[in-house]
Parts: sequence; structure tokens; C-alpha cells
Amino acid sequence: MDLNQIWQNIQKARISCGKWDKITLIAVSKNVNCDEVLNLYRQNQLEFGENRVQELKRKKEILGDLPISWHFIGSLQKNKINQLISLCPILWQSCNSFELANAVDKRLNYTLNTLLEINSASENTKSGIEINKAIDEYLQIKENCKNLNLCGVMSIGAHSDDIKQIQKSFEITHKIFENLQKFGAKICSMGMSDDYELAIKCGSNMIRLGRILYN
Ligand SMILES: *Cc1c(COP(=O)(O)O)cnc(C)c1O
Repeated sequence: MDLNQIWQNIQKARISCGKWDKITLIAVSKNVNCDEVLNLYRQNQLEFGENRVQELKRKKEILGDLPISWHFIGSLQKNKINQLISLCPILWQSCNSFELANAVDKRLNYTLNTLLEINSASENTKSGIEINKAIDEYLQIKENCKNLNLCGVMSIGAHSDDIKQIQKSFEITHKIFENLQKFGAKICSMGMSDDYELAIKCGSNMIRLGRILYN
């Protein structure tokens, strides 16, 4: 689907629920090469997401001259922390524990914008913090990790064919986000190719689209 069509769908979704927040679209490029990134870049798409540090490094090296902002959205292995830090992503969306936050914080020599990833569908195949620990852990990271600028939450919708289940997982994340707004949370990152319109209706202000951009 082309970007214009997707933006029309985004507009429709936010209007249908009376929301006027700005929505940020992150183009997930993990399964495509730099030509596809360039193609979107030429259509004014400037924010991209990768889920592996090595691939982020590779694309950044090739596309380094362009003013592209890179998001890191994958699980971060301890032995890749230094490399990720050296790549200066604009947002680390997938911080999923206080322990990992601490390990990154200790090595940072600049401020890294960060989201706490929440396992809002309580699926054991997924990373992310448990729902009932999310707020405590968020505040703990905020208090202790001074090099992280914790600015919101991220989650992946329930892996299900049942729209009600997916909606429920988005609503849970959004509820946590609302509770964290008084502590400075600004970003609620949820919604992918199959469910971004639903996510927007549930209060997402950042969607991460992969497949739908390239078919
Ligand atoms: C792959 C990925 C996406 C994009 O998924 P699509 O279904 O291809 O839109 C979004 N978020 C994360 C964390 C991902 O790993």
C-alpha cells in the first residue's frame, strides 16, 4: 500500500474516534534493503525502525548521509549494548526490564530516549514487562537511570485473530500510558500492519509499519 493511502487510513481512524493527536509513522525496514528505505525516504518518510543492532549498523553505514532517524525496536542482547549506543538511535523502543535499563544507562555518555515495552497480552512468547509491574518498573527506571529519557510505552498487540483480544491488549497499554502521563510519558507506540487503525482508535500516537509498506 502506498504511503498516501496509509495516511488517509490513519486520518480516518483518528477522526472516527475524535482524536487529534499527532501520529508518528515509523517505517520498519527490518526485512527490506536500502533501496526500499530510499524509496520511502524520497516520499518524505524520515523515521525508520530496525530490530537487530547489526542490521541497523549496516543500513546506517550505507545511508549515513541522509537525515534519517533510526528507532531500535528489537530485543537487545547484553553483548550488543555498546554497539547500539554508538549508533545513537533517536528512540530505543524496546527496553523491557529495569536490569537492562541499568546496563544501558551505565554505559551511556549521552541521553537516550527510551520506551518501556509492555507485554500487554501476557504472552510468554513475547518480551516486555508484565502488566502489573509496568508502572513500578517505569518509575524505578525513571528514578535511577539518569541517562535514559523515559518518555512512554511500547507494545505489540495480542497475537490473535480475535479483534476483541487485540483491542483489549491495546486498551491495557493505553491505560498504563495514561497513568504515566503525569510522570512525563508522551509516546504510546502500538499498532503494526494488521492492526494500526485499531491501535489508533485505542489511543496510539506512534505506529510501526513493516509489511504493508512494501506490498
Ligand atoms: C516487525 C515489527 C513491526 C512491523 O510489523 P509488520 O507486521 O511488518 O507491520 C513492528 N514492531 C516491531 C517491534 C516489529 O518487530
